[in-house]
Amino acid sequence: MVNDTTRLLGLDGLAVAEVIARDEHAGQGPIVWLATIDEQARVCPGCGVRATRMKEWVITRPRDLPVGGRRCELLWRKRRWICSTAVCPRRTFTEQVPQVPARARLTERLRQASGMAVADGGRTIVQSARDHGVSWPVASAAFTAYAERMLPAEPQPVTVLGIDETRRGRPRWVYDEAARAWQAVVDRWHVGFVDLSHGQGLLGQVEGRTTQVVIDWLQERGQKWKEQVRFVAIDMCTIFKAAVRAALPHAVLVVDHFHVVQLANTALTEIRRRLTVQVRGRRGRKGNREWELRNRLTRSAARMHGAQLDPMIDDLMALPKRLGAPILAAWNAKEDLLDVLALARTHPDRTVIAGRLFRFYDRCAASGLPELERLASTIETWWPEILAFIQTGITNAGSEGTNRVIKTVARDAYGFRNPESQRLRTRCATTRKSRGCLNPA
Ligand SMILES: [Zn+2]
Repeated sequence: MVNDTTRLLGLDGLAVAEVIARDEHAGQGPIVWLATIDEQARVCPGCGVRATRMKEWVITRPRDLPVGGRRCELLWRKRRWICSTAVCPRRTFTEQVPQVPARARLTERLRQASGMAVADGGRTIVQSARDHGVSWPVASAAFTAYAERMLPAEPQPVTVLGIDETRRGRPRWVYDEAARAWQAVVDRWHVGFVDLSHGQGLLGQVEGRTTQVVIDWLQERGQKWKEQVRFVAIDMCTIFKAAVRAALPHAVLVVDHFHVVQLANTALTEIRRRLTVQVRGRRGRKGNREWELRNRLTRSAARMHGAQLDPMIDDLMALPKRLGAPILAAWNAKEDLLDVLALARTHPDRTVIAGRLFRFYDRCAASGLPELERLASTIETWWPEILAFIQTGITNAGSEGTNRVIKTVARDAYGFRNPESQRLRTRCATTRKSRGCLNPA
């Protein structure tokens, strides 16, 4: 009974009895009549006894993957059997094969393909549903079943752990008349844990942005897993610092240099804006040299040509004394801090680090600018973690890269109502590389 057409269709337990061509131009694929060849199909699901008495013929139309790019209409003519076992609760049953269970309107391989397109192929649920000719809820359920089967239940040991937060959706505000201030009513966050050492991608996410949820996730991993974590990369966030101190007391905390630079640039920009308002009585605009130089000021001098650098300093000096000198001082302090960070991955001597750090602190103190004093005290607070960055060169760039994927998934989906399904989708998208879904082969 097994012919070439049966082998081509490849549905185990079913044989192709006949293929009837239809009008291709009207978009109608061929009709494929199927017959049962699996002897197991007539075993009663209630008692496991092979039935011998047939009740009737029934026809079922399971939807399947296209064959050669054409969507075929499968018609399976199968038997309904009568179970002869006296104690069996099932009196009758229809034949079933693993690919097409009883009552199933889709073959298992179609269901799996629609789930796989989302989890491994990066498709949205809507697009996968369109591609596979199923409804949104079916594609969504197929994705969830596939993802839960494919994702590792527990992450492998990690030497360098990255922790970072992502905003979930838009924050919403209402005006509080009594307090005369805007209050956040909706501000939802996810905290993600990323493997920065072995490329497992996103290990998991928790909802909220509190110390306790981070501690809880880390505790759930067990003592042995926690002991393997040697470094934890975070941004300058006291929530994560407190959580890591509590749950991973042996791990070395590392602060990413990106956020340190960002902090210094923010201080410089604040100083420039405040002084412009004080001296000119309004915000900066075209024609004000310090405003025109605003982007150049926050660029690292090491990445600028001398042809840009020297005129910039000359221009600042040429500004009114109350304006140019403090901005130049702030710019110098920022550059001093960059010089400290530039020592990362160079195995610097302790005295070299101390010397450059002192120069930065000294410049901040001498400037008398409150913004720089605040910057200096933040650097002082986080100095052990910044020093750990200089010594190890570990950055949180991997977590930030994961964040980009998280946001792309959220935009593709036009946002998520259900945070749980968002976490599952995110997890699939960010572990595609480690699961081998991005290999061209
Ligand atoms: Zn039975």
